[in-house]
Amino acid sequence: MLISTFKGVDGETNNSKSLEYLTRGGFVHKTGSGLYSFTPVGLRVLQKTMGLVRNHMNLVGGQEVLLPTLQPAELWRETGRWDVYKGTMFTLKDGEGKEYCLAPTAEEAMSDMVRTQITSPKQLPAMLYQFGLKYRDETVRSGLLRTREFWMKDGYSFHMDAKNMAEYYQVVRAAYVQIFRALGIDFRAVAADPGEMGGGGSEEFMARSALGNDQFWFCSENSCLFGAYLDKKPDACPSCGNAVVKAPGVEIGHIFQLGTRYSQQMGLTVDGGDSRPVTMQMGCYGIGVGRIMQVVIDQHHDGRGPIWPEVIAPFTDVIIPTNMRDQTLVAAAERVYSALLLHKDPLLDNRLDITAGEKFAVADLLGVPRKVIIGPRSFAQGNIEIELRTGKKSTIGLEDFIAACSMEAHPAVV
Ligand SMILES: [Zn+2]
Repeated sequence: MLISTFKGVDGETNNSKSLEYLTRGGFVHKTGSGLYSFTPVGLRVLQKTMGLVRNHMNLVGGQEVLLPTLQPAELWRETGRWDVYKGTMFTLKDGEGKEYCLAPTAEEAMSDMVRTQITSPKQLPAMLYQFGLKYRDETVRSGLLRTREFWMKDGYSFHMDAKNMAEYYQVVRAAYVQIFRALGIDFRAVAADPGEMGGGGSEEFMARSALGNDQFWFCSENSCLFGAYLDKKPDACPSCGNAVVKAPGVEIGHIFQLGTRYSQQMGLTVDGGDSRPVTMQMGCYGIGVGRIMQVVIDQHHDGRGPIWPEVIAPFTDVIIPTNMRDQTLVAAAERVYSALLLHKDPLLDNRLDITAGEKFAVADLLGVPRKVIIGPRSFAQGNIEIELRTGKKSTIGLEDFIAACSMEAHPAVV
């Protein structure tokens, strides 16, 4: 396992603790301006974020697909967006002069696939989603918050009528709330202007964060979803009546009721009976899966590093034998590691030339939720120590711990 954490801070963290910890924790490597590589630990966090989102998309009936990132200009000309996106879209030509773009979004490519794949009303409603790289030629900002290449989950739903589309939009909205709550993100849903995406209703999910450039009105009650753009000046939260506070926010998701904005232009129809074609209604649902890890660190860290929720932590547990020369401790650590592998995602830090103190610091910088510490004093009593990332400590018998690991997904810890 390649783990490279760094003591120093590079020159570009701009007083942002989240970017400092992304860099010092060795989660990302800056390859170029607005271009980041994910290291082994960084990719673990990204993939676990995608896994959580994937589970929730499947729960609302989604089916995963994969569209090309390199897309022909003709598709974008069908909706008139080849010109709309000029300046923010990376474009290129092949050897024969044919024009392409690196996709900034994928309504056209998805619609193109659906118009040949969905031809019968029996196939509706349908929800198709992907995890794909997106490209935008924009001013880069603060680490993963705005990059030129970034990972998105983009989902698209297709329906026979507007009522069904509007109902399904609420189902996906509820799934988004569950996803962001599972990530421990403090967020609100803000009614938005659909902009160049077109269509009807649209909401942005905004994480409360000093990293944000824009200010919003947020309901002061954490369990309430209400948020609004500053120009709307609510006296109190229209949803729960509590006070509203002005705060900066970072967009983490955006959902749209597109209606027939794309399906009309791209000819997405099914037979509505009597050979009468019905134009499909569309919804569109994005999550910035790449930037989420920085937003989570921004909201959850202390002086030692990030504090990940277990669901996206690079490892659930770090096992640290405090003396690598004591073979009984090492053997016990290996038993604990094997036991945890059944239901968890543990890391055994068995590096020889690193002190236990340094291993604790690295575990904190990686933000791992639990340390399992195997030291000579407690081991002499048959015990190991569990220390949560939040600082809480407890002692448990080695055999009890191993038995608990084999029996349940969450061993009897603290
Ligand atoms: Zn409220």
